[in-house]
Amino acid sequence: MASLIPVLPVSAEQAEVSEDEPLAKALNYVKVAEEAKNHPKYKEGHICDNCMFFKPDQNNGCALFNNRRVEKGGWCLSWAAKPQ
Ligand code: SF4
Repeated sequence: MASLIPVLPVSAEQAEVSEDEPLAKALNYVKVAEEAKNHPKYKEGHICDNCMFFKPDQNNGCALFNNRRVEKGGWCLSWAAKPQ
């Protein structure tokens, strides 16, 4: 008998991080870094793309979000400089 459970096109690990989910809210993740400009930890120029947790070779994933995709130009309060 065929399964009635729909097959999702992407796994949960690959799904994009939403600003509305609990961990994203806890870390103040925003898809556009400038939206966090009033946050005490935000500094201009800090974006996911230059954060040590960003994985451009893994579908633009973030290690803190189980390698799920985040915006290159996003930001969260766990931003840490990528080692040079
Ligand atoms: S930890 Fe870094 S890559 Fe992940 S959401 Fe925060 S700023 Fe972006």
